[in-house]
Amino acid sequence: MALITKAVRGTRDVLPGESQELRWLERVALETAEAFGYFEIRTPVFEHTELFERSVGDTTDVVQKEMYTFRDKGDRSITLRPEGTAGVARACLEHGLLAEALPQKVSYITTCYRYEKPQSGRQREFTQFGVECFGAASPAADAELISLATTFYATVGLESYRLEINSIGCPACRAHYLDELRKYFRTREDNLCPTCLDRLDRNPMRILDCKSPICAAEAALAPRITEYLCEECAAHFTGVKTLLEQLEIPYMVNPRVVRGLDYYTRTVFEFVSELPQTDGLVIGAGGRYDGLIEELGGQHLPSLGFGLGLDRSWMHLRAAEAALPERRRCDLFLATRGETALAAAARYAFELRGDGVMALYDVTGRSLKAQMKYADKVKARFTAVLGEEELACGTAKLKHMADGSEETISLSNFAEELEQHLLHSEEASLFELFSGFESIKEDS
Ligand SMILES: [Zn+2]
Ligand SMILES: [Zn+2]
Repeated sequence: MALITKAVRGTRDVLPGESQELRWLERVALETAEAFGYFEIRTPVFEHTELFERSVGDTTDVVQKEMYTFRDKGDRSITLRPEGTAGVARACLEHGLLAEALPQKVSYITTCYRYEKPQSGRQREFTQFGVECFGAASPAADAELISLATTFYATVGLESYRLEINSIGCPACRAHYLDELRKYFRTREDNLCPTCLDRLDRNPMRILDCKSPICAAEAALAPRITEYLCEECAAHFTGVKTLLEQLEIPYMVNPRVVRGLDYYTRTVFEFVSELPQTDGLVIGAGGRYDGLIEELGGQHLPSLGFGLGLDRSWMHLRAAEAALPERRRCDLFLATRGETALAAAARYAFELRGDGVMALYDVTGRSLKAQMKYADKVKARFTAVLGEEELACGTAKLKHMADGSEETISLSNFAEELEQHLLHSEEASLFELFSGFESIKEDS
């Protein structure tokens, strides 16, 4: 029979054998965030559409063209989150977290949805590691936030990227800049792509990061926001740069980094891949959004955050052939002969699994030979055969598959003896450092 349907365009399945790599990235991400005082928050995948119109901005490409918006059966306008910050800010306001000791720091792993043209590194469903720090106005908060991202990259072994930073000012100084920018591009209207012509009125800063080479050529000579910053914004930007230098975090100032979302103020930054295979891909981005909480109905609360693309980090790591955790191997395969032995194997496996050991036995009724073939396929470290003989004498031969050596172990003390062997076998993989196996090692 033919398949009913295929996955929706712009979505990607993560298969067994790959998923442990992403799970490891997610785990390192949240644990790195915790070391910086951020705790995980989980918010719904969909929100009222109005939330994104108000926060992301109703003139942005994201809101105008890219959102998955629908009416639910109660006739509410609902949107799948196109980014992580708005929902998290909404949740923190709703639950009074912003009335507690500040800054309030939260982290999350989240899927986001944007109806964009799929291409390498850009899916319509994507996963982000995000953090938000509410209630911190000082440049020290910006530098600390950026150092959290670089610590995460360093911990997972992600190299060959650059950090680009910019300041897009506050609403006061930006208004003046936008006027100048419009004036500049108006004289060059004939050279702009249709999208940028459309941006000229509502969002001229976005012309600066247009990918069209003709627009880019015009943008190269455009006025730079950094020359229009008010005194406070300029001092803030200088503060951020000085602190990054003190933390020895390399960066370059790129006046064309503007980000596409309305809520950003002052510092914005991007992490850009420099690998040949993923060159120019933005693997993470963030910035300050001092006006967002007020926009959502809270008090004025300077805040900032980032979203690092986990799919993109993963692509980058794979392209770099970095060390990634392998799928966990079977610790023990119990091959069986006969019904009684199968029942015994099930009991031993039950006990071992309770201790975090991956123990398998045959549930398909295969011959002993076929069972051993399967044990090879799942790369079992140890195998043992259980039959009437073994059950009668109360011992079984434990075979170490790496070197073929065998040892007789007592069935009455099966779990304990096996775990001792597992401890001393030398094939600990990267993944096991993060699995339940670790706790066995610590306990004994
Ligand atoms: Zn300003
Ligand atoms: Zn353009």
